[in-house]
Amino acid sequence: ETETNLYYTTYRDIHYKLKPRKKFSHKGTFGHTLLLCGGFGKMGAAVLAARACLRSGVGLLTLQVPSAGYTVLQTAVPEAMTLADKSRKHLSELPQDINKYNAIGVGPGLGTERITKTAIGQLLATSSHPLIIDADAINLIGSSDKLKAQLPKNRVIFTPHPKEFERLVGKSNNDYDRLRDMLEFCAEYGCYVVLKGSNTAIGTPEGKLYFNSTGNAGMATGGTGDVLTGIITALVAQHYTLEDACLLGVYVHGLAGDLASSKVGDIAMTASDVIDHLPQAFLHLQ
Ligand code: AMP
Ligand code: MG
Repeated sequence: ETETNLYYTTYRDIHYKLKPRKKFSHKGTFGHTLLLCGGFGKMGAAVLAARACLRSGVGLLTLQVPSAGYTVLQTAVPEAMTLADKSRKHLSELPQDINKYNAIGVGPGLGTERITKTAIGQLLATSSHPLIIDADAINLIGSSDKLKAQLPKNRVIFTPHPKEFERLVGKSNNDYDRLRDMLEFCAEYGCYVVLKGSNTAIGTPEGKLYFNSTGNAGMATGGTGDVLTGIITALVAQHYTLEDACLLGVYVHGLAGDLASSKVGDIAMTASDVIDHLPQAFLHLQ
């Protein structure tokens, strides 16, 4: 039995982690992110992740989307550079110079085609920077022992919702066991897991377990998870430690949701409302 370190993260634990931007900084200071997101009929996931990433302080953002999404992304997210996959509908290849990006976010809207699975295998094998793995990228890795065996140590953050968690880690008997299983998984693969839900749980490879205090049921709507992927990827690119990027990202995402809820209410709230309240959420932490 290993001893577990439990934490409940509130404003006091989080606000001092936010790094001020220095006067003589330039866009290179804040990192270059790559997002591999979107698929035919799910380009919105890429739009949401990209917009959230840009609202979270990243220096430069490059997106690669299936070619059917090229014009969508260039129009919806003018601040981002967009690369078109040779496949019209699916992620099928990696961009050149994969290691020029400080952080890579992968998963939202991808789908689970075989060709996408191959591309993810290449990503695990060739990238040397941190990976933020969400959604269908989790589903693909979860269904393949071969991909799991390729996971690099101390460079991966998984952000599953409960169903994706089950595909990645397996079915647990109850909520308590699920947290124990999560920490065992974190230790075995040397990774961070952000188990999303009400009071999102964050597990670290060293066995720390954090519960987040922000967020509300208005966030139980499509696209809010894609927003979180964009936020955490942006923070990792800005050289936050993986642990701090998880803690700060989950906290600020929930806080933006709480600010959105007080404006539009939790019934009408959309994922775009969460993005629109990121500026206020970051200001609140400064
Ligand atoms: P996803 O299922 O990938 O779209 O992610 C949903 C996001 O919304 C996660 O960040 C969850 O933590 C958040 N969320 C969903 N339901 C709730 C809830 N009842 N209370 C707080 N946050 C929630
Ligand atoms: Mg999701």
